[in-house]
Formats: sequence, structure tokens, C-alpha cells
Amino acid sequence: MSLRTIEELGPLGGTSVIVRCDLNVPLKDGEITDDGRIRASLPTLQKLLDDGAKVIVVSHLGRPDGAPDDRYSLRPAADRLGELLGSPVAFATDTVGDSAESTVAALEDGQLAVLENLRFNPGETSKDEGERRAFAEKLAAFGTAFVSDGFGVVHRKQASVYELAQLLPSAAGLLIAAELDVLERLTRTPEKPYAVVLGGSKVSDKLGVIGHLLPRVDTLLIGGGMLFTFLAAQGHKVGSSLLEADQIDTVKGYLADAEQRGVTIVLPTDVVVASKFGADAEHVVRPADSIEDSPFGASGLGLDIGPDTAAAFADVIRDSKTVFWNGPMGVFELAPFAAGTKAVAQALTEVDGLSVVGGGDSAAAIRALGFRDDQFGHVSTGGGASLEFLEGKHLPGLEVLGWQ
Ligand code: ADP
Ligand code: MG
Repeated sequence: MSLRTIEELGPLGGTSVIVRCDLNVPLKDGEITDDGRIRASLPTLQKLLDDGAKVIVVSHLGRPDGAPDDRYSLRPAADRLGELLGSPVAFATDTVGDSAESTVAALEDGQLAVLENLRFNPGETSKDEGERRAFAEKLAAFGTAFVSDGFGVVHRKQASVYELAQLLPSAAGLLIAAELDVLERLTRTPEKPYAVVLGGSKVSDKLGVIGHLLPRVDTLLIGGGMLFTFLAAQGHKVGSSLLEADQIDTVKGYLADAEQRGVTIVLPTDVVVASKFGADAEHVVRPADSIEDSPFGASGLGLDIGPDTAAAFADVIRDSKTVFWNGPMGVFELAPFAAGTKAVAQALTEVDGLSVVGGGDSAAAIRALGFRDDQFGHVSTGGGASLEFLEGKHLPGLEVLGWQ
């Protein structure tokens, strides 16, 4: 069964529709540094506004601890949303309290309100189903229909993703539909050769994915923080770089499994090693098997793939027909360690086939490095969600919308 669509909710003009968006944008000193997720939310919101609905947007931002915390206020995101829509957006300073109630009550047809961060309420992410449901019931009271469009959270069983969808007539928004369209192409019949590029810093999360990807892909390229666990599995010292020592045996298993399946795992042959974590750090390029053999010894930090590796990765990517990339190759936020990520991004733009970038930081990286979204086949708003889908996992936020 496929996802229920907004059309299946019937005419929405004059009704109040709650929309779960993912407005979880990166902020620095209260300023939005990448508004990609807000832009991705626009088609669904614009459609509902054009239909004459009263639109109530709910979202999370960051990881506050179940209580209000100004650093994680959605207000900057709401303001940006208003700018992008070109019409004023009302903002409630709580999620289900007095402010939310009066803000929603004041909405007219074709107007939109954003409620404050869902995660200021413990019920949103509670492990207790009853608590989640109680919170979802309060949210549900604001509308007569629910549209789920926060693709970045569909792998989470959370009140506004899962329980809320059961309490009201519910459907998937246009963003989720578009994301799934691409992911299906990646899983059903990917054109070969198929390469997956993995990097980033959520090492243990992503290592788990590899076992599931091996049967599906031709080549795996490993960069970012996780490369050091691979180098350690090969018996190399990695200085003070990111390392998940307890995963070394798992990684050895992947290397053996890949060989048996005829899948190539391409590991870096050189690494940019830094004296410390900072833009002003001293840094040198070292062969991957002698990272500690630098002026910084065992305190050296591997913060990017080296130029030979970047060139080798780019060759594999350009020669593939299907490429999925999640996780920056290095600490791209610091200029001296951005070259690996830039080379991989550039190669993806040259793929003659389907190229997909997934992950919040990966998407932010391509924009920060001067690429445009339309240079890639698809830029996904969800890293964890995309990966779990590719792994073949059941995603609660999709199943509750009719997906099987
Ligand atoms: P995504 O959001 O795309 O899924 P992650 O959240 O897993 O990616 O990781 C992104 C972060 O990984 C970036 O902030 C980047 O600085 C960091 N990173 C990449 N390579 C390294 C490395 N070698 N050491 C430390 N951090 C790294
Ligand atoms: Mg991230």
C-alpha cells in the first residue's frame, strides 16, 4: 500500500489542518545558517494555504530537554518561513498552552501559524506510549486533519509523527512523497554501478548501515569520522582521531563480508592530519597507514581525507550510474578541512545518472561550499531517515500513513 495523499483528505478550504514539518535548521547566534529544510517545507504549506485552509505548523528544533529553552526557539524559523511565503506568519510562544490556543483561534482561512518547539514538551519524545498519546491528543484538538511532512523524523516513533497521525484523518505531504519517490528508485532498481559514500561524525549510527548496504551496492567509499575505525581495523594507528574502538571487530566483519560478495570498500590512502581542532591548526597530509608519523605524533587529529583519496573517490563517483552520499568527508566547517567534501560534492554533480545527497550536515555542506541543490539529482532533508529506509527498516512515521 502506498502513502495516503493530501487529496484523500477531501476539500480542506475553511478547515484547520495541522502540518508536521521539519524546520530543524542549523542556527548560529540566533541566525539561520542554512534554510534548506524551511524551503523544502514550502510546497505543502503553499498548497494548503492556496486551498484556503487554516494551517497550524508544528516542528522540533534541536534537542532541548523536554522543557522550554530559548536557544531552541522556533521563532527564527517561523520568521524565515514568513519571508519565504511572502505573507505574515503567526507564532505561538508555547506548543499546547494558552498562546497556542489563542493563536490558533485567531487564524483565518488561508493563514498560517507556527507553534513553539514540540520538544519543549516531554510528551513529544517520551518512551511511554501513554504520555506520547496524551500530548498528541492536545495537538489534535487544534485541527480536523493532519498532514505529515517532516521527512527527517519519519524514523522516529514520536507523538507528532506517530500518535497524532492516528488521532486525525492523516496523509503524507508533498515533501515526504518526493523524498520517497527518490529513495524507492535507490532501492528497487538502482542503475549499476551503484556507489554509496559514507562520512560524517555519527560513527556508530552509520556503521550499522553498512551491513545492510553491502548486498545492494557495488562500491562503498568511506570517509569522515568513521574512516579511522576502518584504518584501526587494518592495524593502523590513528592518533587522536575519532575512533570507535568497540566497533573494530564489526568493521573487520564488514571488510570480510564485502570481499566475499565482491563489493569494493574504498578506504582513504591519505589523510589531512591536524595539530588540534580549529581553523588555525597546523596540518599536514600523511599516508593513511602512518598518521602518527607527523610532527603532532599521537596527538594528531585526522580531519579530512587527503588529496589522493579525494581524487580516487571522485573517479569512482563519476563512473557510477547511481550514487548516494551521506556524511561530510571531513570537518568542512573549517576551511583547511573542506577540500575532501568539496571534491566529492563536485564529482556528484558530474554523475551521469542519479545522485542523491542525504543528511542535514551534508546538505548544509554542499550549500556552504557553493553548490546549488539543482546540481544534484536530489538533496534529501533526512539523513537518518534516508539511511534507515535504504537499510530496509520499517519507518513508523511512514507506516502510520499507509506505507507498506
Ligand atoms: P549528516 O548530518 O550529513 O548525516 P553527520 O551528522 O553524521 O552528517 O556528521 C557531520 C559532521 O561530521 C560535520 O559537522 C563534520 O565536521 C563532522 N566530521 C566529518 N569528518 C570528521 C572527522 N574526520 N573528524 C571529526 N568530525 C568530522
Ligand atoms: Mg548531522
